[in-house]
Amino acid sequence: MNASALKSYLFVSDFDQTLTFNDSGYVLSEIVGIPTEEFERKAKGMTKLNLVQQGAELAYLLLHDPDLRSRVRKEHLIQVGKQIRLKSNIGLLNEILDHGIEGYHFDFFVLSAAPVEVVRSALEGLLPADHIHGTEFTYKPSGEIDTIVRATAGYGKVAFLDELQANKEIGPDHVIYAGDGSSDIHVMLHVNARDGFTIAVSETEHVTQIAQRTVLSPNALGVLVPILEKIVGMHRTQIRKFIESHGFLIQEWDKVRTDWITLRAVKSDLLESLPEEGKPRTRLTSAG
Ligand SMILES: [Mg+2]
Repeated sequence: MNASALKSYLFVSDFDQTLTFNDSGYVLSEIVGIPTEEFERKAKGMTKLNLVQQGAELAYLLLHDPDLRSRVRKEHLIQVGKQIRLKSNIGLLNEILDHGIEGYHFDFFVLSAAPVEVVRSALEGLLPADHIHGTEFTYKPSGEIDTIVRATAGYGKVAFLDELQANKEIGPDHVIYAGDGSSDIHVMLHVNARDGFTIAVSETEHVTQIAQRTVLSPNALGVLVPILEKIVGMHRTQIRKFIESHGFLIQEWDKVRTDWITLRAVKSDLLESLPEEGKPRTRLTSAG
């Protein structure tokens, strides 16, 4: 098939907790000798302030927290990339997206709020460096962080994605975004509003409410399932065969739509006074 007959898509993925099992900030604090609880206190404190875009807490702390700023050097960021635990088969996912699905080409990019050095170091040999974008700093000759060039967190991801899409000349309905939620809410709302496809890879409440599909798997190939189903239009048996052709068996495939419900007790006399249709009803989960 010639290249022009291929249907081209952009597949953009978050990094922390989407392609990894933990957050770069925690690995970094460990490397530079800041206790986890202390880092957690700082990061959560930043989130609570709403001073910076969601996901940009680490970038802010690297610039303004004396403890982090004085300890962290560029080499530590590269070291984080080598130590962070990645989901399996990210390289294979890239190969399959690139040329493994007949009639389709998916250009795989990573867009992370984490420092770009962390992500490029972690995905070295799996994804080309120019397909990896993150928060950019400038450094002093000593390796100490000097200043920030660009934060790709929160709305910063939207701005970056729009640029990428324009450069690649791909329509907004051919954009797929996968993320776990911490810095992905704006970008997912944006992609949905423009008829793209969004995939959540965690059960975080806000993200599952926004994403069109949720897939939980310790294997990076898990995101292929909703793509093959929704974009390529394969049936379950075809998807199983496809995954099998790449050397994996789908061992378990549970499909549950989850409704998030919080109930509060109603005083019984108030309940009695409600008309029949006003009485609270619950439906917890439904299969299908
Ligand atoms: Mg994330």
